[in-house]
Amino acid sequence: AARTNAGPQRVLLAAPRGYCAGVDRAVIAVEKALEHYGPPVYVRKQIVHNKHVVETLEAKGAVFVEETDEVPEGAMLVFSAHGVSPAVVNAAEERGLQTIDATCPLVTKVHREAVRFAKNDYEILLIGHEGHEEVEGTYGEAPEATQIVNSPEEAETIQVKNPDRLIWLSQTTLSVDETMETVRRLRKRFPNLQDPPSDDICYATSNRQAAIKKIAPQADLVIVVGSANSSNSVRLVEVALEYGAKAAYRVDFAHQVDESWFVDAQTVGVTSGASVPEVLVRDVLSLLSEYGYTDVEEVVEAEEDILFSLPKELRATLKAHG
Ligand code: SF4
Repeated sequence: AARTNAGPQRVLLAAPRGYCAGVDRAVIAVEKALEHYGPPVYVRKQIVHNKHVVETLEAKGAVFVEETDEVPEGAMLVFSAHGVSPAVVNAAEERGLQTIDATCPLVTKVHREAVRFAKNDYEILLIGHEGHEEVEGTYGEAPEATQIVNSPEEAETIQVKNPDRLIWLSQTTLSVDETMETVRRLRKRFPNLQDPPSDDICYATSNRQAAIKKIAPQADLVIVVGSANSSNSVRLVEVALEYGAKAAYRVDFAHQVDESWFVDAQTVGVTSGASVPEVLVRDVLSLLSEYGYTDVEEVVEAEEDILFSLPKELRATLKAHG
């Protein structure tokens, strides 16, 4: 190996990491739909933003599409964990599709907030990344009342109609720190800006960030397992670097880990995004042990025991047919 330092090599493994309750539920929903109805089961967009998960479900007969008009009339369609706008729900209905809504309940919560505040004549500043599926869905609940704020910089220039009837909401998978900075800048300009009734950034996102913050200052290298389109995974790389990791990289699979990253790396931090199955982390740990990083210590930031029940359409069917 290319390693040149002489100290002990160790791995700090973040906990929690990997699957959150919303991802777990969405993946099981597709699996159950496949078991019960048989393939093909159509899924609008990637069910969760992970390559491995999507490929595995594809092999079992799931068919991923971009839009409802690609689905044959009358077929079974699953909405992804990121949620959909009312326009998409209507389009599916018009096409006579049977739908299963695998939207994470924590995303649905933000949708409800958007609807409620828009109804009460609030203007909504939705902090999030334009173009991300979740943001499209939430925005679509009240497009006439909503503006997207992409970054702290945008908070400096955004124009509102009535600064006294203003609320911010957010995407569930943002950087906690950056979001607070965006809010701080917004509030400086609009002191009467209201906070959401409860945190929109979800427990899984904040716990995974908190865990890597503990590890980063000690880490010569942080490896984040997760896909490029996974917002919370990409945030973990950024947070690791902000909190002092000397280097941080994201990989989908262990084989993408580059040997050169280990040069001078004594302590390697490992974590994974909320859409990442544990098997992919195990692969990275095996690879690390081949390079001599056999001493693995788990750094536990929080225990998670949240579990969501399956989408209601599926619960009803499974109950009726066993
Ligand atoms: Fe739900 Fe959070 Fe998981 Fe997204 S990351 S599916 S909001 S629990």
